[in-house]
Amino acid sequence: MSQPERREFQAEVKQLLDLMVHSLYSDKDVFLRELVSNASDALDKLRFEQLTQSDLVSAGDLHIRLELDREARTLAIVDNGIGMTRDEVIKNIGTIAKSGTREFLSAAKAAGKSEIASLIGQFGVGFYSAFMVADKIVLVTRRAGTSVDQATRWESTGDGSYTIDDAEREHAGTTVTLHLKPEDAEHGMRDYTSDDVVGDIVRRYSDFVAYPIKLGDKTLNSMKAIWDRPKSEVTEDEYKEFYRHISHDWTDPLRTIPVRMEGTLEAYALLYVPAKAPFDLFSPEMKRGLQLYVKRVFVMDECKELMPPHLRFIKGVVDAHDLSLNVSREILQKDRQIQVIRKQLVKKVLATLEEMQRDRFEDYLGFWEQFGPVLKEGFVSYDAGDKDKLLDLVLASSTHDPAKLTTLDAYVGRMKEGQEAIYFLTGTSREAVMKSPLLEAFAAKGYEVLLFSDPIDELWLERAPRFKDKPLQSIGRGEVKLGSEDERKQAAAAIEEKQREYGDLLTCFRAYLQDEVKEVRLSTRLTSSPVCLVADEHDMTPRMQKLLEQMGQQPPKAKPVLELNPTHPLIPKLQAVYTESKADPRLESYAKLLLGQAHLAETGQLPDPDAFSKALGDVMLRAL
Ligand code: ADP
Repeated sequence: MSQPERREFQAEVKQLLDLMVHSLYSDKDVFLRELVSNASDALDKLRFEQLTQSDLVSAGDLHIRLELDREARTLAIVDNGIGMTRDEVIKNIGTIAKSGTREFLSAAKAAGKSEIASLIGQFGVGFYSAFMVADKIVLVTRRAGTSVDQATRWESTGDGSYTIDDAEREHAGTTVTLHLKPEDAEHGMRDYTSDDVVGDIVRRYSDFVAYPIKLGDKTLNSMKAIWDRPKSEVTEDEYKEFYRHISHDWTDPLRTIPVRMEGTLEAYALLYVPAKAPFDLFSPEMKRGLQLYVKRVFVMDECKELMPPHLRFIKGVVDAHDLSLNVSREILQKDRQIQVIRKQLVKKVLATLEEMQRDRFEDYLGFWEQFGPVLKEGFVSYDAGDKDKLLDLVLASSTHDPAKLTTLDAYVGRMKEGQEAIYFLTGTSREAVMKSPLLEAFAAKGYEVLLFSDPIDELWLERAPRFKDKPLQSIGRGEVKLGSEDERKQAAAAIEEKQREYGDLLTCFRAYLQDEVKEVRLSTRLTSSPVCLVADEHDMTPRMQKLLEQMGQQPPKAKPVLELNPTHPLIPKLQAVYTESKADPRLESYAKLLLGQAHLAETGQLPDPDAFSKALGDVMLRAL
């Protein structure tokens, strides 16, 4: 006989176990859903492998069996699925490879006790949740394709370690036996050796599982595939329950979208728009994609080919009737049917969002807050399809009503006579853009400006989209040309006049600031501030540069343009100093201070605090 080997859990697992063992929260029932779902996954995997390895036979029909023992106070979850080898047990049950675990632990610490149950599902720490109800767990498993004596026995009491040993098992599959803690109604510890209790939990959480879940000679679940039943026959609660089942998100979805495709191609889908973004929405490791079935037979999870990245938050299932069961990911990428289905699904999702925006704006605001930045990724993706539809969905802050978000359509409806472009400004935060001096001339003219502050905004707006034939134009670049033809001519003449007046001063400033700026010129966009920074017509905005740097790229350094406000009292005074003496040292200090001031207004930061501080010191000293 071999000796059981004792091994330590990975540190993260220990922490997790500690949370489970000592948990007092009341939703302990979820442990069964997690174990049944693991068993169901194991059956999926076996069936999938059988498609390519015909010699992998299962012991009878694929099923899950629950065995209750009142006397011994045990509950066993038995499946005849894929099973695990010894190495797989060590890897899958002793360690946590997933990056989500650390997030889970910190989220669990921050969350209230009642929320931990929903976190368990979301973060996929399923198996360990059994330690909420068991003080000892024994797992005996045999990998499909191995012999009777190649099984493995794993046992733990949920402290820091487990034992692992060789074992025998008649057929391939896994048996998880929970030695239950004493009943404790006050803390949600029900009698999990009772047929009624267990049957109730299975029907509540696992009704759609595609395999029979048996208790004695009864099958507990209906196995009904909710997605191919007509909408009128499915209750709202059933839809919600199914959402929970596939997403592990315990917040009700914002929208449920049943899709039927019939005709040349037969497919059914059930999609959901979640109400809340998952914690890892921006992580490359986020679980995304839909579940794919072929005629109610599960084929694959996280099928990314069915939803573009900018709709990666959509959850759901697709049942494509004409697809081969044997389909691989490589084939999927090129499959025409999949492309057709995906196109239909995207269309349906966008139409649903549009409808929500039109008819239930409050709901849509909630959606936009959670998923707006992801949706906007569609503008910079090569295969996002109909970008005009996406533009319809965009919401933005606006100078029209700082307290509200507006659509582009509403903006266009408010455009002034003679206004040719949709003006916008981007910045690091809504507060920063609202205070930008660049808005002054537009405010004076009564032109509305859209304010964008998500990092992605720089990127997509950079591509100069058009909405309803109107260009979207940044007010932070190039020269502004506002008003009618006549007004512009007048403004140009006025600037030329000022240019003659202050030309020498500008040249002098240019000389002092040539390392930092591309140009020093007079501004037509300021009314009260003395200076501002803008990007030259075809250069990147400073924020765009910063964004690319953060992404690890090295964009060409484009220097900004410093604009001086000729109507500000400071400028004639500086001109007077210059006329008095071209070499007056105050000129250099003022040049540096004005540049610093412009940087502060733009980003709230100084690129060279030392130079600024020195110039400030000089000016203060002279003023005394
Ligand atoms: P998750 O199910 O989210 O991956 P779990 O902690 O519940 O996380 O399970 C960890 C891993 O253990 C699973 O991914 C699977 O590989 C393996 N496993 C768990 N239960 C079974 C089972 N009944 N049969 C085969 N493998 C299993």
